[in-house]
Amino acid sequence: MGNRKRTISNLVMEYFKNHPNQDLPHGPVVDWVTNEWLKDHSHPPRDPWRAIRKLHQEGKLIKVKKGIYRYSPELEKDIETWDFPPKVKEEILKRDGYRCVICGRGIEDGVELVVDHIKPKDKGGTNDISNGQTLCMEHNLMKKNYSQTEAGKRFFIKIYEEAIANKDEKMVRFCKAVFDVYDYFDVNGHIPRPNGETKKNQEKR
Ligand SMILES: [Zn+2]
Repeated sequence: MGNRKRTISNLVMEYFKNHPNQDLPHGPVVDWVTNEWLKDHSHPPRDPWRAIRKLHQEGKLIKVKKGIYRYSPELEKDIETWDFPPKVKEEILKRDGYRCVICGRGIEDGVELVVDHIKPKDKGGTNDISNGQTLCMEHNLMKKNYSQTEAGKRFFIKIYEEAIANKDEKMVRFCKAVFDVYDYFDVNGHIPRPNGETKKNQEKR
């Protein structure tokens, strides 16, 4: 048969790929997947519905509305160019010794590894080996959060400058306090505080 390796996700994708560009309610999908699964297994599949949601989160299925999903071959092509090609991914992992470049943990330590774009794709980063790094899930998440704190700091700098222009004293002090928190935790120090505002003049307040 050679079909024993079919996972629930594979089966779900198989069904959607056989019905491209159609809005599919989950009932018939789950029925078909369950039927196919039972050809290879003696027990029913675990939560095929969850697999559909996960495939949607991975960007492989479009959520049309609650309970209705669609597969678009064009979308899948986009995903391919969006992420590193598998060969490049493998080379990055190999270069990094199959370990997270931050904590050094690998699969044998029980962590899941991802290949991360050092410069994000939506900021013009490429799919070249030089733009890739191996991260564990924990540090990948931390990186994401960290870049959000960057966006936050830039946002507060804008608010601060507006507050100065509007002579909004309270908002100025509020922003200064926010910048102090950034300094205190030593986060995003590469983004300077606005116009010479430093911790020292802060203390004279
Ligand atoms: Zn790590």
